[in-house]
Amino acid sequence: MEGGNYFRIPNLAPVSQQGAGRRPFQVEKIPGRSGRGFEPPPLNHPEMDILILGAGASGLLAARNLARSGWKVTVVEARDRVGGRIHTLPAGIFSGPVESGAEFVHGDLPLTLALLREARIPLRETGGRFWQSSSGSQEPETGAGAWPEWERQLKSLERDLPVSQFLKTHFGGPSYETLRRSVRGFVSGYDTADPDRASTISLRQEWLGMEESGHQYRVAGGYGRLTDWLAGQIRELGGEIRLGCPIREVLWEPEKVTLMGEGGTQFSGSRLLVTLPAGTLLPPGKFQFRPGLEKLERALEKIGFGSVIKLLVEFTHPFWQDPVWYQRANCPETGLGMFFSGEPVPTWWTQYPAASSLLTGWLGGPAAASLSRKGTGSEELVRLSLKSLGSIFRSGEKEVQSLVRGALAVDWNRDPYSNGSYSYDTTDSGEARRSLAEPVAGTLFFAGEATWEGPSIATVEAALQSGSRAAVQVAACG
Ligand SMILES: Cc1cc2nc3c(=O)[nH]c(=O)nc-3n(C[C@H](O)[C@H](O)[C@H](O)COP(=O)(O)OP(=O)(O)OC[C@H]3O[C@@H](n4cnc5c(N)ncnc54)[C@H](O)[C@@H]3O)c2cc1C
Repeated sequence: MEGGNYFRIPNLAPVSQQGAGRRPFQVEKIPGRSGRGFEPPPLNHPEMDILILGAGASGLLAARNLARSGWKVTVVEARDRVGGRIHTLPAGIFSGPVESGAEFVHGDLPLTLALLREARIPLRETGGRFWQSSSGSQEPETGAGAWPEWERQLKSLERDLPVSQFLKTHFGGPSYETLRRSVRGFVSGYDTADPDRASTISLRQEWLGMEESGHQYRVAGGYGRLTDWLAGQIRELGGEIRLGCPIREVLWEPEKVTLMGEGGTQFSGSRLLVTLPAGTLLPPGKFQFRPGLEKLERALEKIGFGSVIKLLVEFTHPFWQDPVWYQRANCPETGLGMFFSGEPVPTWWTQYPAASSLLTGWLGGPAAASLSRKGTGSEELVRLSLKSLGSIFRSGEKEVQSLVRGALAVDWNRDPYSNGSYSYDTTDSGEARRSLAEPVAGTLFFAGEATWEGPSIATVEAALQSGSRAAVQVAACG
């Protein structure tokens, strides 16, 4: 089991630095460019039918932009909802909306913020104290004494290595054990990646860029408001969204595409924008192109696709604020934000600064993949979560369990329409993301977080940016 102490989480400054009780972030104050946040593609052949496969952030934004410029778009989606890896659960199991997929806006991200502004959806700044449960420390356990050497070795690295290999080569000794555990925990926790495949050079960029990464937010009422709003715009502009249509095969020739769905559904168009998660496109998958796209397959094999299980547990009240609990566990009395442990579900966070009795657990990387492969069911995952929380709070699983109001394990690895979490760079990735974004014969186009190589890879921002870029590519080929 990974140590799971992912550390130096960007943007989650301790309360003492942020000022507790900071006012919620207001939409009027969203920094960055106001207005539409993209340039609409030129209007060339609006009579052509554009098919868009996938109603996640990338597909919806591409469809909205194209529809706004007068193109006839049909979005085809397997699930009975829009949003993809953005999925805000409405109140039901829990007392309010809860994010089962994407949750944070990781910084002042230009397109995400511009769209939220346009949709008039406010953000709330996050924060809270860190807590390392094993040591009681209010800093994640990182082996901090080794950081100068870590940064030196990272900066001088010339030839990329998988993270595990890099650690073994330069930090193999017993004195670096905490650092090794922290780095592996970060790569598998934050990036949901396999340290045996993940690129050290990519980690370096992420790592060294962190200090400037600024604020972190949640979307008020849930990220799903953004994708619902985009879907509403598409419909208002005359576009269609066909839900509940899983596609198995794409038959294509230049300027002619047919999507073959399960149960015999078919859709035809002159162009197709594919926005499916990389994990669902990788062979041997259920999805295929005819004729096949070897270049796409080669690029996909070079990009890593991570694993994650998200655990959502709501309690009768925020017990971690009761003196008997925080004193016993030696956790911060107030303002608990994110906490780390060596338990099977290692990382947890509260909804701070919102008053909420929800705790969210996060298990990423090989440990998550292994549980999913074994077919660990939702009930067992919830049990594992409560056991982890029992140990973290120095009580028993039963004591924690007696306070549970509702719980859910969301295993994205076993979800057939995501097959994992999000992409990461391996030592082979090189030009692969760029190659994934290249149109084929002016007929097939690609978007989705894995096709975006700019900053903020693998995030909602990456998905939106890729959708915006793809809309321009489609229009340019008109
Ligand atoms: C648990 C979790 C937490 C995350 N947390 C964050 C976060 O805090 N902040 C952040 O910025 N990012 C986060 N991410 C990443 C972020 O959610 C994604 O990068 C982004 O939502 C991807 O959008 P997309 O359009 O590329 O893909 P998707 O949202 O996956 O959209 C693709 C669509 O294609 C559909 N589809 C798949 N197969 C088929 C088929 N055969 N036929 C028809 N349709 C199909 C899917 O159902 C889906 O709707 C998180 C991801 C996960 C899984």
